[in-house]
Amino acid sequence: MSTNKEIERYSMLIGGEWVQAADGDTFESADPFTGKTWAVLPRGKEADAERAVEAASAALDGPWGKLTASARGLLMFRLADLIERDAEQLAQTEVRDNGKLIVEMRAQVGYLPQYFRYFGGLSDKIEGAVLPIDKADTFNFTTHEPLGVCVAITAWNSPLLLAVNKLAPGLAAGNTFVLKPSEFTSASAIELAKLFVEAGFPAGVLNVVTGFGNEVGARLVSHPKVAKIGFTGSEIGGQRIYEAAAKGFKHVTLELGGKSANIVFADAKLDDAVKGAISGIFAATGQTCVAGSRLLVHESIHDEFVEKLVAYARKARMGDPKETATQVGPVTTGPQYLKILEYIDIAKKEGATCVLGGKAASRPECGDGQFVEPTIFTDVRNDMRIAQEEVFGPVLSIIKFKDDDDAVRIANDSLYGLAAGVWTQDIRRAMSLHKRLKVGIVWVNMYRAVSYMSPFGGYKRSGVGRENGMEAIREYLQTKSVWISTASETPDPFVIR
Ligand code: NAD
Repeated sequence: MSTNKEIERYSMLIGGEWVQAADGDTFESADPFTGKTWAVLPRGKEADAERAVEAASAALDGPWGKLTASARGLLMFRLADLIERDAEQLAQTEVRDNGKLIVEMRAQVGYLPQYFRYFGGLSDKIEGAVLPIDKADTFNFTTHEPLGVCVAITAWNSPLLLAVNKLAPGLAAGNTFVLKPSEFTSASAIELAKLFVEAGFPAGVLNVVTGFGNEVGARLVSHPKVAKIGFTGSEIGGQRIYEAAAKGFKHVTLELGGKSANIVFADAKLDDAVKGAISGIFAATGQTCVAGSRLLVHESIHDEFVEKLVAYARKARMGDPKETATQVGPVTTGPQYLKILEYIDIAKKEGATCVLGGKAASRPECGDGQFVEPTIFTDVRNDMRIAQEEVFGPVLSIIKFKDDDDAVRIANDSLYGLAAGVWTQDIRRAMSLHKRLKVGIVWVNMYRAVSYMSPFGGYKRSGVGRENGMEAIREYLQTKSVWISTASETPDPFVIR
């Protein structure tokens, strides 16, 4: 363990109690900028998963299940106010644990209350229907009920946002939760849980267990009392969750990886498209599922565009994520840092031309952090590994295209289908293209915008189901059809009615 004296020691929240792992085991979390341990967390195992699921189940059958939908909504509004009050502290925790930029985190955390207000507002608008049923003397109506105990399992790249994407619609729908944050970035989930307690949520409505996927996560997913898993993570992680969920016929929402195409047409405003390309791949150090990691550029503007882009990217300020002027921060985890460097090597061996970066960053302002230089490859073919596989770092592959059909063919030639960007001033082209792109999100003349109102999720291997918007609340509900006979006599029992 590091000798740093300012080490934060965290507990997990289970059934309203702040507890350590049943066996007392712990693990450490490092600050990606200093490389030093800053927090020690409980290393939950099967016994802790059991306790947490039992607590969530008890809350469902107890005080939470008995609350009116409006009362659930009010609790969520109160939570939103508390997040607003503590936004700066939450943002600082995320920066320390994850290495995300303070400017980005202030914006992201500042936006989280809106998720609880939007979905809190929806909680008492979950209406069923009375159906004009085609049977005589029969009354039929539907109700929408919570699924039960839900497990939220999240990735390390936007810890609070990914948790809130699941908790807000799921709680509004009346479910209870066990949240297992990534083992690389668990602190902010615990800070959020403190606000749940302060807001007055009944014990067990939100439980947070920390630890590793194969130790505590796997037991949560396979637990017979768990009805749904909301997962954000890698494709391979998603496969494991899906398989385990299938065994128990559990509901899932899976938000997985991407290899999104950001397409620049010759008629685009090139300076705007340069900023769009930058935000697609160098914002958040490229550690974002919607990274526009394949930049498709029309052949007629290719050279001019690459020159502008390289000039812009070259000026990106790297350094301490706590400084407001920093634009590119450290890579969050050790394994991810090595993976990015490996992919840079792969691209070089595949014959791509490195026109910027292409190595670990050793600038003085990067301190002891794990930084990778913003990297741009040209001469990339779409069948290269660097164009097909998710890098999850600041590494851009530029591919030339000839015309609209060629752009669509290249963009869709991917196992993933999360997002795409289209840069054009021709509205007819934009309208035609959005239909042809096999992705869950299309941005036209913009990139990397999200809202609690707008469905978020991918086609193909990028996921199953949607988060955000009205669709998200449906992902946490099940429908019941209720039949009532108003007939004076029950008819022939051997004939279906
Ligand atoms: P990961 O799959 O390694 O881990 C995600 C979570 O799953 C972690 O909390 C981990 O502990 C847990 N886990 C791992 N194995 C498990 C198991 N057997 N049972 C239960 N839980 C298990 O992913 P990561 O490296 O943390 O995240 C990066 C990935 O997340 C990237 O592929 C990225 O594209 C994706 N991502 C997707 C979205 C989206 O919304 N589509 C958003 C952010 C990140």
